[in-house]
Amino acid sequence: MDPARALAAARPVPYWLDDPARPAAQPALAGAEHCDLLVVGGGYSGLWTALLARERDPGRDVVLIEAGRIGSAASGRNGGFCAASLTHGFANGLARWPGEFAALEDLGARNLDAIEAAVRRYGLDCEFERTGEIDVATAPYQAEELRQAHATALQHGLDLEYLDRDQVRAEVDSPTFHAGLYDRRGVAMVHPAKLAWGLRRAAERAGVRIYEHTPALALVRHGAALAVRTPYGRVLAHHAALGTGVFPSLLRRTRHRTVPVYDYALTTEPLTEDQRAAIGWRGRQGLGDSANRFHYFRLTADNRVLWGGYDAVYPRGGRMDPAYEQRPATYLRLARHFFACFPQLEGVRFSHAWGGAIDTCTRFSAFFGTAHGGRVAYAAGYTGLGVGATRFGAEVMLDLLSGLTTERTVLAMVRRRPPPFPPEPLATAGIGLTQWSLARADRTQGRRNLWLRALDRAGLGFDS
Ligand SMILES: Cc1cc2nc3c(=O)[nH]c(=O)nc-3n(C[C@H](O)[C@H](O)[C@H](O)COP(=O)(O)OP(=O)(O)OC[C@H]3O[C@@H](n4cnc5c(N)ncnc54)[C@H](O)[C@@H]3O)c2cc1C
Repeated sequence: MDPARALAAARPVPYWLDDPARPAAQPALAGAEHCDLLVVGGGYSGLWTALLARERDPGRDVVLIEAGRIGSAASGRNGGFCAASLTHGFANGLARWPGEFAALEDLGARNLDAIEAAVRRYGLDCEFERTGEIDVATAPYQAEELRQAHATALQHGLDLEYLDRDQVRAEVDSPTFHAGLYDRRGVAMVHPAKLAWGLRRAAERAGVRIYEHTPALALVRHGAALAVRTPYGRVLAHHAALGTGVFPSLLRRTRHRTVPVYDYALTTEPLTEDQRAAIGWRGRQGLGDSANRFHYFRLTADNRVLWGGYDAVYPRGGRMDPAYEQRPATYLRLARHFFACFPQLEGVRFSHAWGGAIDTCTRFSAFFGTAHGGRVAYAAGYTGLGVGATRFGAEVMLDLLSGLTTERTVLAMVRRRPPPFPPEPLATAGIGLTQWSLARADRTQGRRNLWLRALDRAGLGFDS
């Protein structure tokens, strides 16, 4: 089908947020608030931090302020792959922190278990399905890379399965698949916005006071406490946790450690029984293909296919703009790739098309720190794999604010921060060259040129 016709009726909003169940916004803060802990940001980072703070100490007075609506940024518009990995995949974790890789994997597995337990305990109605993920090879060289990755994973005790062409196609049938690497336990699928809304409800029930449409405009020391200015009020707090994602941090020092990268996704109309039968997918796993420029795809609860990724767009000058959340050229490319992957679905139409900004950092996994003499903690830089890892990041922020040494705060991954991106125009030039090189590697059997090899040696990179 002509991709443009398949897209013609797509609504230009995230499928997840286009839901009558979206809760009404809480009023903005007007006047003065006082609390022990102020959480800034109403995505998963902030919501988990607020909820876990009350779990750790039910007597603690917690306020959360959100600039827009709860879950309206990355947390309400992502692919919903909730992964155990805290390190943007095991290969990245192993390359960067070989000495603490086992601990990171263990903490990540426990973190995903804890999310599953919280879904049950708080009745978070977020369509949580622990169906796993298959990384698929769409070229023979990628099949070989997956085989090597499988061998490495086995050496490190990871429970992954290599699937040959017939085995992977028996799970999900695409003529483009050559092989797969199946992680049965390490990834769950969720409805991302419902996860955020459920966390909001759980936090409110636990006693957290939430204000929406309340951006923190400035954060300063105020005697022994902190003062945060908002458009109609002010919060005085003993401590603050910043879960502001890709948005400019209230702390100048962290601003150059992330850049926004726009990522885009489509959902189809719900598939019919016949269309489902034509592609299999009875296991309802998440899938991702394994080139540098990769697609991710999954089924929603009502059997739409969500199909996203590939183009990772660094906006001019690194500036964010809501206008960048729509990109028809990318939708056309994604639609073409979708029908190439699933020719059986010829004639299917797309219901929604949207984009969102990812907080990319040079090591692809979150970094943490404190400011104002330990009164403020922050976590950012999840680089496209924060649905699960933000809960771990919330624990880290609370650990750091408590001043205690924990199994998390001793990690080099927690103690050290990634190198910042260079200032503009160097960032645009460097990211442009890196993206060009990655696309070229995808066309040349994965061969990495001099530039990519130099970045690899320096432990730097660009991903989404
Ligand atoms: C299209 C897309 C697909 C993705 N797919 C996946 C996936 O499948 N799996 C995965 O693991 N990850 C995925 N991600 C990444 C994942 O969504 C993020 O890592 C995660 O949601 C980050 O959560 P957060 O709370 O840190 O940030 P956010 O969700 O961005 O929340 C930060 C919040 O802070 C608020 N804020 C910012 N500044 C202020 C301020 N000064 N005052 C008050 N509030 C402020 C913002 O309004 C925002 O709501 C994807 C991201 C995108 C955009």
